[in-house]
Amino acid sequence: MKFIRYQYGSDRPRYGWIYQDRVGPVEGDPFNEYRRLEVDIPLSDVALLAPVLPGKIICVGRNYVEHAREHEAPVPEWPMLFLKPPSSVIGPNDAIHLPPQSEQVEHEVELAVVIGKTARWIQPEDAYLHIFGYTVGNDVTARDLQRRDGQWTRSKGFDTFCPLGPWIETDLDASDVLLSCRVNGELRQMSSTREMVFTVQQLVAFVSSIMTLVPGDVILTGTPAGVGPMDEGDSVECTAEGIGTLTNRIAHR
Ligand code: MG
Repeated sequence: MKFIRYQYGSDRPRYGWIYQDRVGPVEGDPFNEYRRLEVDIPLSDVALLAPVLPGKIICVGRNYVEHAREHEAPVPEWPMLFLKPPSSVIGPNDAIHLPPQSEQVEHEVELAVVIGKTARWIQPEDAYLHIFGYTVGNDVTARDLQRRDGQWTRSKGFDTFCPLGPWIETDLDASDVLLSCRVNGELRQMSSTREMVFTVQQLVAFVSSIMTLVPGDVILTGTPAGVGPMDEGDSVECTAEGIGTLTNRIAHR
């Protein structure tokens, strides 16, 4: 099933679900008690919002061997984690703002795991019990600042640096999902999640050994090779086969 957050006309933002090309509201929220109401609005008539408002966003660095190689970085022995702030989240079709502090802002298409059930010290084989579904993420990065700072909070944490969407797909086998990123239609990144160093299950278990995962938390599972710069006016499309395409444009503030 596909869950969205959306705005219809001047109504308040709310959760919904998609059946064929129509949207129905969800009473409550999909991470707790909820009830799906009848689909009644054409999908093309609603503005899609980020499908989840995460309390925390845990990201994994260098989880694809080829991406570690393109930065001449070693493949980590255990998952290399960092955080993006919830204030960096934007939705489909929102603008990614180029901050004045950076000359090199880059795209990173990633499979995003959305947590559905509290997890602490879980085993990899139980991870699926705690995963609500999957969406597409773009771990936007100010590459020059990442190199300069040595740690990544500034380079990864700017407002608008975490596009998520277009929706959460709850029925997906995450072990072999084709990810791609196009800038102005030109293919930049393409790989499958089967190339990940640490699997989704291993990542959820590993993170849960450090911090309690709660419903709505998001794990960005790392990016394949091919990351590259984006400029003002560009359109960036991040696609995960079996989910959909997340499109954002690049703008100066
Ligand atoms: Mg990344």
